[in-house]
Amino acid sequence: MSPAKLIDGTEISRQMRSELAPAIAALKAKGVNPGLAVVLVGENPASQVYVRMKGKACEEAGIYSETVLLPDDTPEARLLAEIDRLNADPRIHGILVQLPLPKQIEEHRVLLRVAPAKDVDGFHPENVGKVVLGDPTGFRPATPFGVQQLLIRSGVETKGAHVVIVGRSNLVGRPMAALLLQDGPGGNATVTTCHSRTRDIGSVTRQADILIVAMGKPRFITADMIRPGAVVIDVGTTRVDDPKSEKGFRLSGDVDFDGAKGVASAITPVPGGVGPMTITMLLYNTVQAAKQWTA
Ligand code: NAP
Repeated sequence: MSPAKLIDGTEISRQMRSELAPAIAALKAKGVNPGLAVVLVGENPASQVYVRMKGKACEEAGIYSETVLLPDDTPEARLLAEIDRLNADPRIHGILVQLPLPKQIEEHRVLLRVAPAKDVDGFHPENVGKVVLGDPTGFRPATPFGVQQLLIRSGVETKGAHVVIVGRSNLVGRPMAALLLQDGPGGNATVTTCHSRTRDIGSVTRQADILIVAMGKPRFITADMIRPGAVVIDVGTTRVDDPKSEKGFRLSGDVDFDGAKGVASAITPVPGGVGPMTITMLLYNTVQAAKQWTA
């Protein structure tokens, strides 16, 4: 079998960002400059990298961005007050609170506080509900939204396909299943969702026409767990020690890429697959928020 085609998230992301430019220009022509606020509490190194990348992506796209940095010992009330300020700020159309949050802060209360109209991460129950119901005014969480776009733009047909998702987090697995079940492009799939209590997981993943993995378990999915010819999307991004790398670590996916590429028909690399799409879809959601704000 010939090796799998590479699904290039960096390239698809670049195309999608250039397609977004006219929508941003049209908003600006109406006097609306889309704005995103990113709130980071504490000094988690991975979160700091993501926040910097989001700010840079906004800048490149011509989206106004504001980064709010708060110390690790920030009381919950202080963070909620900051969210209230951003909820009321007319320059800000999207608000994102970088997770994870320090222990003294209850994540659920924070996510509930973000105004649903500005919740570009799609974590507020109002947006979760809208996404499940297929209401297009709801914000689709950026990572599964990005995976869906990767499939559409790589010409992978989801209609009638059996998609197996490994992982049921609120961030990835659950909204991914909701998007794939919808009636429309990138939807109409038959969806199976696996998790840590799934019995004989390999027997389930081997049934997938499209296998989407979001576990956070480096190289868990091996070639023997993949049906020959399946499309494999690897969401996993875990830092693993690598003394050969300048930084001392590298990013690993949840799929054993070298083994899987000999079996799959198409596969995403890590990095350079799902990762770049996540930030692009955040930009799309911010533009959607600004459009809905003006409507
Ligand atoms: P999470 O909240 O830790 O969820 C992991 C899921 O995997 C859970 O549902 C868990 O099942 C399941 N799981 C763990 N071990 C398993 C096993 N042995 N067999 C079957 N299922 C198992 O993680 P997440 O937030 O969804 O993120 C998953 C990965 O994606 C991480 O590596 C994360 O860094 C990455 N990620 C990447 C991006 C990106 O932009 N590229 C964005 C988001 C996340 P239970 O529910 O039963 O515990």
